[in-house]
Amino acid sequence: MSIILSTLNARYTHASLGLRYLLANMGDLRGKTQLVEFVIGTKTTEIVEQLLAKHPKIIGFGVYIWNVEETERVVAMLKRVAPQIKIILGGPEVSYESAEQSIVQLADYLITGWGEVTLPQLCKQILNGPQPLMKTHVGVQPPLNDLALPYSLYTDEDIAHRTLYVEASRGCPFKCEFCLSALDKTAWPFDLDVFLAEMETLYQRGARLFKFVDRTFNLNIKSSLKIMQFFLDKIAAYPDDPVFAHFEVVPDHLPEALKAGISQFPAGALQFEIGIQSFNPEVQALVSRKQNNEKAADNISWLIEHSHAHLHVDLIAGLPGEDMASFGRGFDQLYALRPHEIQFGILKRLRGTPIIRHTSDFGMVYDPYPPYTILANGLIDFANMQRLVRFSRYWDLVANSGRFANTLPVLLGDAPFARFMAFSDWLYANTDATHRIALDRLAKMVGEWLVLHSLSELAAAELIASDYAGKSKRGKSGATPQRQAMHLPA
Ligand code: SF4
Repeated sequence: MSIILSTLNARYTHASLGLRYLLANMGDLRGKTQLVEFVIGTKTTEIVEQLLAKHPKIIGFGVYIWNVEETERVVAMLKRVAPQIKIILGGPEVSYESAEQSIVQLADYLITGWGEVTLPQLCKQILNGPQPLMKTHVGVQPPLNDLALPYSLYTDEDIAHRTLYVEASRGCPFKCEFCLSALDKTAWPFDLDVFLAEMETLYQRGARLFKFVDRTFNLNIKSSLKIMQFFLDKIAAYPDDPVFAHFEVVPDHLPEALKAGISQFPAGALQFEIGIQSFNPEVQALVSRKQNNEKAADNISWLIEHSHAHLHVDLIAGLPGEDMASFGRGFDQLYALRPHEIQFGILKRLRGTPIIRHTSDFGMVYDPYPPYTILANGLIDFANMQRLVRFSRYWDLVANSGRFANTLPVLLGDAPFARFMAFSDWLYANTDATHRIALDRLAKMVGEWLVLHSLSELAAAELIASDYAGKSKRGKSGATPQRQAMHLPA
């Protein structure tokens, strides 16, 4: 095999859409190209051995924030044991600020931006000469309809066991400064009929779980409706064979036609990831995020009351201009809307993102190592930032997990952020752990906390037991992923 396209995925269940796009667009080199995926945490020697066993002349790596450190070790080892193999890097992590990156220095070639057109051109030059003169190649961005779609490259095993990522559009017209999509000038749609024909084939092959990576699914309502109708038709035709679709939506744009479509989905079939990030208008202005907070809140309430969509809403802590009190107010405001999950993220300075302009004015201090998480800023010091990091982790374990559905409202009372922060501080002081807390121990700790805060031992035990009883009635249901199924009515 002359060419290997490889990446280290964050999990086995994540099948790389980017690699499949590259393979689909290799043209007459496609027969000589093989896709080889790994999972982070695999031993470097194991990865290198598997790659070398295929005797490639070229290896292209997809480099992302989650795999850059491990990929660098792989590239460094390859360069020692098989220096004749040409290494090409691509992907968002190496597309910006690349000159200063040690992984780029180790590699032979770099493609920044889109790779589908430029990678086969570069490989042809390497294989047939004349050898490329430049190390860095700016990826050509073709019209989307010129790209070969990658969906037939999902294997039967991918369909059976992995999340299928799909995209009906690329790019985003908004300019939120913490986000890599802020660098896109607009959003580009794929030909919708061609795309839906591919979805039909995937469906016929057995795919039931579709994760759309479009940055803003509800930008073009006509397209959104057509895509939703595709799934509604499947649900109507095969009501006993459930399907699950995940979309990222902007919260302040939910016209009536879209609401009418959304409300037809049964429970466990639809998930929306909704970015709020901050409810503070000054912070939003600082990071160039345009959001009508009132409309956004109304729409989230509408979705909760009138649809079965599972809502996963994002907030970011550590943004410039946001102190603990402001973040806490935003958190409480969001919690009051009762989304199923609040994804509480900590700001990361992604390479190339414009948020860097605030670094000195707002005292933004970022970890120099991936994922470049904020460590402190002028309003939140390091110690408090760590408290927020733990809050986020414990929130995931206790609230987002859906395991304490009856207990959570009692734990949070009328001051969700303040009370959960106090619980989080106490839990950390008494366990010294953030990641591995067995469920039984966690339940015991939640019970202890409630007793310390005026619940009788009997009442606390009954409350916790009611959640365990509830849990036993839930679980995996059809195509609904287990975590989302935990939020379905028992
Ligand atoms: S955060 Fe969302 S809306 Fe803002 S630029 Fe990124 S993808 Fe677009």
